[in-house]
Amino acid sequence: MSKGFWVISTVLLLFSGIFIFWNYFLKNDVVDEPVVKEDVDATWSGEELSCVEFSCSNLESSNDRISVVYHPCLVKCSNGYKISESGQFAVIVPTGYELLAEKHLDDLQYCFPLLKEQLGLVPFYNKVYVVFPLADESKSYASTSTSSIYYYRTKDQLDSAQKSFKKRSDEGLNFGVGPDSCINAHEFTHIFTGELHLPRWANEGIAEYMITQMPDVKDKPSYCADDVLHFKSLKDEKFEPYSDLSKSFGVPDVDESNEDYLYETGACVFDYISEKYGQDKIKLIMQRFAEYAANHEPDEIIGKDMNRFSSKIFIREGIVPVIGEDAKVWLKKMFNL
Ligand SMILES: [Zn+2]
Repeated sequence: MSKGFWVISTVLLLFSGIFIFWNYFLKNDVVDEPVVKEDVDATWSGEELSCVEFSCSNLESSNDRISVVYHPCLVKCSNGYKISESGQFAVIVPTGYELLAEKHLDDLQYCFPLLKEQLGLVPFYNKVYVVFPLADESKSYASTSTSSIYYYRTKDQLDSAQKSFKKRSDEGLNFGVGPDSCINAHEFTHIFTGELHLPRWANEGIAEYMITQMPDVKDKPSYCADDVLHFKSLKDEKFEPYSDLSKSFGVPDVDESNEDYLYETGACVFDYISEKYGQDKIKLIMQRFAEYAANHEPDEIIGKDMNRFSSKIFIREGIVPVIGEDAKVWLKKMFNL
């Protein structure tokens, strides 16, 4: 055989060797890697929470010690509390209640993609804190500026929650917290929508509505009746008329006489939109208004970090562009908006 034949055969063999090696060993790695990375980037696109202006030495002289001690930047300064972290989440509990922190970390990981999908938004900051300050009285709220959810709880309440986890029972204050319930739905929604500065009824309404959208919710917080004039509170098992949402002012100008069913009534506005126009409209309204809020100042001046957009602006810039002018008619008739 000629010398040329051997040269061509050797070259061909060499190339098929390289081809097989590429196909089975290298190609798979090259293809798989960027998919995972892209997904992570798209999920968290918010800003980093800067702790530059906070230091433990300033804390000693502060008059407002109780509120600053639980600032996420100052957690390391507070004795008696422990921080547990997982991914973008951190839960801060009094020492000894680490099991509570673990359960909430699971709950937040489960909650996050569900709320993100429903709201079509991402949190403003790249990290979310849940803090359990020991207190004489229980209260819950979310603070967008510190990207934190606060659950003030008494020692008895924390003990009973921790005990229920150990016994795997469904009782106790934090009923159902864990990897399949999203018990944080209400306050976590505030973290997603905080930068929208929604009118108060819409801010609380969307948070209550989101609870009803989580899978496996055993007790929906309220039920909006078919006659679209009432809702049924599950607690009382009776129908109540809607609150007058035109009286929904921001803290501290809250009209107490109108507060009782404000949250439920606000949730029924979103429930009605979903029933009448389709569930995807909720997400579109939130996204549309987030764009407006990013480029405009709130028109209702309440106080630093508390200013909100009026109902008029939210309806004009968020609701009407997505579902049309006829929204104005029923918003007025049913909710006095
Ligand atoms: Zn709330």
